Amino acid sequence: MTNRNIIQCEKCKAEVNLKKLPIEAKHIGEIRIQFFRCPRCHEKYLIDVTDKATREKQIEYAKLGNYQKQLIGSINKDNLEAIEKLTLRNNDKMEALLKEIKATKAELKEKYGCEL
Ligand SMILES: [Zn+2]
Repeated sequence: MTNRNIIQCEKCKAEVNLKKLPIEAKHIGEIRIQFFRCPRCHEKYLIDVTDKATREKQIEYAKLGNYQKQLIGSINKDNLEAIEKLTLRNNDKMEALLKEIKATKAELKEKYGCEL
């Protein structure tokens, strides 16, 4: 089995366990660039670029995810249909939000990835 948390540094070929590394951040105005460094050669690797609006959307997305869990947890034979409608609607919202988040992140990565 391969461990998805282990990557190989492209520069020094060291095996890097992502779970054990601190995530560092650099700020440019309200843009946040998150990255980690190879513990051996200190090569920087980009993780994520977000702006304030995207970070707020990520919080909103997490909230909707929690709400979804609550909805599913509250299902019983009397509210089945109502809950189903709510979860579908909530799911649509989550999907739309995730699409926006991904699109913005991709743009920001393109724009600010070189600032690392
Ligand atoms: Zn390295």
